[in-house]
Amino acid sequence: MPRRRDPYACPVCGTRAEPKRTWQLVSPFPDAQGRVTVTVMGSFECPNCGHKWRTAISKIKVGASGVEVESGGRRVTRQERPEERRGEVIEIDIDEE
Ligand SMILES: [Zn+2]
Repeated sequence: MPRRRDPYACPVCGTRAEPKRTWQLVSPFPDAQGRVTVTVMGSFECPNCGHKWRTAISKIKVGASGVEVESGGRRVTRQERPEERRGEVIEIDIDEE
């Protein structure tokens, strides 16, 4: 099994870095289930070798049937009915390894 790529690890030397900047990309088109995908992007600079890269840190799919989060290859699905939502609070659990 190939280990999934760590978005926080430098692709050149493997040193982990914190994102210098993050931003969200919202897909203009919903997917087959009518969900909108929000991708959290990060801009990194390796503290060891100086390499700079950008990568998707996580993806969040938001639709009428709930919220699905992909982070580091892990998928977390929230089954949630729209009428049960209180305000616009979206609860997300991301387990860091
Ligand atoms: Zn590096």
